[in-house]
Amino acid sequence: MERISHWIGGKIVAGESGRTGPVFDPATGEQTHEVDFATAEEVGQAVAAAAEAFPAWRATSLSKRAEVMFQVRELLEDRKTQIASVITSQHGKVLSDATGEVQRGLENVEFACGIPNLLKGGYSEQASTGVDVYSIRQPLGVVAGITPFNFPAMVPLWMLSNAIACGNTFVLKPSEKDPGASLLLAELLRDAGVPDGVFNVVHGDKVAVDAILEHPDVRAVSSVGSTPVAKHIYEQATKAGKRVQALGGAKNHMVVLPDADLDMAADAAVSAGYGSAGERCMAISAVVAVGGIADDLVAKIAERLPKVKVGPGTDPESEMGPLVTREHRDKVAGYLESGPAQGATIVRDGREDPVAEGDGFFLGVSLLDHVTDEMDAYKDEIFGPLLSVLRVDTYDDAVRLVNENPYGNGVAIFTRDGGAVRRFQFDVNVGMVGVNVPIPVPVAYYSFGGWKSSLFGDNHMYGPEGIQFYTRGKVVTARWPDPETSAVDLGFPRTR
Ligand code: NAD
Repeated sequence: MERISHWIGGKIVAGESGRTGPVFDPATGEQTHEVDFATAEEVGQAVAAAAEAFPAWRATSLSKRAEVMFQVRELLEDRKTQIASVITSQHGKVLSDATGEVQRGLENVEFACGIPNLLKGGYSEQASTGVDVYSIRQPLGVVAGITPFNFPAMVPLWMLSNAIACGNTFVLKPSEKDPGASLLLAELLRDAGVPDGVFNVVHGDKVAVDAILEHPDVRAVSSVGSTPVAKHIYEQATKAGKRVQALGGAKNHMVVLPDADLDMAADAAVSAGYGSAGERCMAISAVVAVGGIADDLVAKIAERLPKVKVGPGTDPESEMGPLVTREHRDKVAGYLESGPAQGATIVRDGREDPVAEGDGFFLGVSLLDHVTDEMDAYKDEIFGPLLSVLRVDTYDDAVRLVNENPYGNGVAIFTRDGGAVRRFQFDVNVGMVGVNVPIPVPVAYYSFGGWKSSLFGDNHMYGPEGIQFYTRGKVVTARWPDPETSAVDLGFPRTR
């Protein structure tokens, strides 16, 4: 069985804990790899390598760091398909989707290429007579990222691009379910000129995570995962004095007003509900039909479902792949039991899809109607190819439903009414809002983050708030005597 090991100080380091976890090909159900689980000591080695690399990396000029990020961008472009293939083989998502994930991650690298501009400070000449004041932003030191299974390349790139460009050094703890992409990123960063020790990977479970949270040399932690884990990370790491941004789970609503284009809304619900088998933190999980449109909308969604091609992610014909593990697949299928038992109607049962019969972790697309806010299918984050339709009478009922939900990651409204949209963006307690856009993931030069139980911490991830998170401010107040020294130098001014 092929082994996946840690990456510390610029090379592969075999784990010695004796603890490992299985990695599966979700399309076949076969175990393909064994991943090492780090001990606290092994996490300590990675942090030590990062701490050792920090002084030289933070002293590296801005233009050199920008040059390295441009090179990272070029290599990501070249290796996009290679990375996407590994994601497909361990996560299960279809290759085009995995390629799209790497592309969105690449856009975070492109943002970080602008680091000389992003780190510009302010300057006030003559704040007092002969006194100037200026502000600078400096890196924190060793920072860590703890990432989920559903975006094994993009979410690490959300974090590491800005963190490294700002001059920090990084320790990544990727998901143990699909750890392969993290090592391709490590090799790529090395090949792009990121010095050894600036980027490290430790694999593992709670033991490795808790060692990161407790380590005194880790200055900040970024994490993305389920809400209980996000809360644990936030509480433990802040208690240890660290800066933390911990993104949690989601229950994303798509509110469809009576004047919406129902064909467009149905296309969007199917695309955003079943893309990546519903295993996106911004997937639509609850369609909220307002007024008398529900029967028409459900019919339009239902007529699209038989056409969704479910199959192995490596098959170019497939539009939706399997789920990540058998346990997760069975958990999602469980809502097709509990939903009807609690009063919902099954419109389409993905367990009956022939693809669900093989050894892979497949479940066909599933649709529940007449779901209410009392039912588990609504209350839980399902994270699978199961869409629920809730019926409400008015706009106010829809907003109340969204705002009373404990999560606040993404929400979409479908309508032709600009006034309703304006009111909705004012009223709704959710961090990312789509207007006739079902998956409103912000572009790399804005920041990503939910509200309520979808984010613990103050800064959203990547974009301008990412730069804020990975640096701290310093203000200098200066008075100078007249300059006495000067020299002639005819060379062209150098930056490196
Ligand atoms: P998860 O919470 O199980 O794991 C996330 C990370 O935490 C992994 O690296 C894992 O090894 C580690 N971990 C797991 N249990 C832990 C514990 N008890 N203590 C410490 N660390 C632990 O999440 P997942 O199943 O990998 O990913 C899916 C979840 O992530 C969903 O809830 C999804 O909504 C969420 N997610 C959210 C966003 C967002 O932007 N808000 C983005 C992607 C995924």
